[in-house]
Amino acid sequence: MKQAKDIRDSYIRFFTERAHTFVKSSPVAPQDDPTLLFTNAGMNQFKSIFLGDNPKNLSRAVNSQKCMRVSGKHNDLEEVGVDHHHHTFFEMLGNWSFGDYYKKEAIKWAWELITDVWGLPKEKVYATVYTDDDDAYEIWNSETDIDPARIGRHGAEDNFWEMGETGPCGPCSEIHFDTGEGTCIYENDPNHTCGVNVEGCGRYVEIWNLVFMQYNRQKDGTLTELSAKHIDTGMGFERIVRVIQGVRSNYETDLFMPLIEKMEALSGKTYEFGEAGIPFRVIADHMRALVFSITDGVSPSNDGQGYVIRRILRRAYRYGRKLGFTEPFMHRLVPVVVSSMGEAFPEVAERADYVASVIEGEEARFDKTLETGLTRLEELAEAYRAAGKGVISGADVFLLYGTYGFPADLTALIAREYGLEADEEGFAEEMRKQKAHDRSLRAGGDDQGLSPDGWTILSHEGGTVFTGYDTARDTVQV
Ligand code: ATP
Ligand code: MG
Ligand code: MG
Ligand code: MG
Repeated sequence: MKQAKDIRDSYIRFFTERAHTFVKSSPVAPQDDPTLLFTNAGMNQFKSIFLGDNPKNLSRAVNSQKCMRVSGKHNDLEEVGVDHHHHTFFEMLGNWSFGDYYKKEAIKWAWELITDVWGLPKEKVYATVYTDDDDAYEIWNSETDIDPARIGRHGAEDNFWEMGETGPCGPCSEIHFDTGEGTCIYENDPNHTCGVNVEGCGRYVEIWNLVFMQYNRQKDGTLTELSAKHIDTGMGFERIVRVIQGVRSNYETDLFMPLIEKMEALSGKTYEFGEAGIPFRVIADHMRALVFSITDGVSPSNDGQGYVIRRILRRAYRYGRKLGFTEPFMHRLVPVVVSSMGEAFPEVAERADYVASVIEGEEARFDKTLETGLTRLEELAEAYRAAGKGVISGADVFLLYGTYGFPADLTALIAREYGLEADEEGFAEEMRKQKAHDRSLRAGGDDQGLSPDGWTILSHEGGTVFTGYDTARDTVQV
C-alpha cells in the first residue's frame, strides 16, 4: 500500500518538477490576521499576493497547508466522525500560479497527476465547472480525455469561490471521485438512495478544487478585475490518501488507523465503520487538531482560538467516556500523532512533550467536573422531558457552563442524545448579561464577581462569545 507520506511527497514533487517553489505551511493558528481564527485554506498565506503585493516575485508555489475548519464560514465540526471525510484539522495540498500559468495548465496537470501518476480510474472521476465558464469546459474537453458526460456545470454555490464578503474570487472547477458506495451522486443529492444518512453519504467525494482567481469583490458587492489572473488549488490530503489506498473511509488510511488501533488497545473496545465508530473517529480527529494547534502556540483558554481548542478537547474527552475511559487518556495518544506526522511537520515532534502535558492538564481539569456535570445534565433532561419541553433553556445551558465547564455545543450534543435541543441563543444572552454585570462590578472597583477558575469570567469581547467563531470572524475560504 502506498503510504500517506509518499503521496504527500509525490504531490509536492510533481509540482516542483514543474518549476513550483515549495513554501512551508504557515501555522494552523495565524498570529497576524485578525479576520481569521484558524487557517482554513492553503491560500491564506498568499492573500496579499493575489491583491498585487508580491515582493519576492513568487510565480509558482506548492505546499501542504495545515488547516482547521471549526469556525467562521467554514465550520465542519458537526460533520466530523459522523461522515468519513470532513475533519476539523486536515492538510490541504495546493499549487499556485501568481500571474503565471492559468486554467489550461492547472486542469491539464491536475488530470495528469491523478490519472497518470496516481492511476485513478478515469471513469470514476467527475469534473465540475462554473455555469458560464466555457473556457474551463473546453479545456477539460480538449486537454484531457475525461468523458464529456462527466463534466458538469454548477452554480455559484459550488463553483464560484469567494474569499469572504470582499476580496479575491473567481470561478472554480472541482474534481470529485466516485468511491462506489451506494448510488448517490453528490453528498446532498436530493435523490439520495444509498441508504446511509444524507450527511454520512460519501459516494462522490470532492477531492480537489481549482480556483481561477480573477476578480476582487468590493465592499459594495461589485466585482473588479484583478491586475493579473491567478491559480489557487486545494486538495484534501486525507481524502486523496483514502482514494489511492482504496479504503472506504479517511479513517481507514494510515493517517488515522494507528490512532484508532491505539484507542482499541487502551480501551479494549473494537472499532466499527458505522455509527458505533463515531467516538473513535471524533477522538482521532480531535487529537490531531489539538496536537497541531497547541504546537503552533494555542493554549486552552476561555476565548478566541484557545476556547475553540478547549471545546474540542472537552468534546473528545466526553466521547472517551463512551469508550470506557474514566481518567485522562488523550495525552497518551500524542506520540501516535507524532509518529505519523512528525517527519512532514518536525515542529510537532519537537514540542511533543509540552503538548502532551498541556493536554493532560486540561483533561484532568475537566475530569473533575465531568461526572457531576453529566449527572446534572441527565437530571435536567429527565425533567424537561417529563414537562414535555423540547429545549433546554439558555439559563440551564449557562449553569452547566459556569458550574461544570460544559461548552454550550457539548451540552447541545449531549442534549440531542436525549432528543432535546439546547437554546444556544438564550445561552449567548445569559453570557451577555453576565458580562454586563461583570463590567458594572469592575466599574465600581470591585472584582469579586470573578471566580478564580475563570469559568464565570467573560473574556470575549462584544458579546460574541459563542457566535463569534460561527459568524463573521473567519472570512477566507477556498
Ligand atoms: P466539501 O464540499 O466537501 O465540504 P469544500 O468545497 O468546502 O469541501 P474547499 O473549500 O473547496 O472544500 O477546499 C478544498 C478541498 O479541501 C476540498 O476539495 C476537499 O478535498 C478538502 N476539504 C475541505 N473541507 C475539508 C474538511 N473539513 N476535512 C478534510 N478535507 C476537506
Ligand atoms: Mg465544505
Ligand atoms: Mg464543496
Ligand atoms: Mg470545494
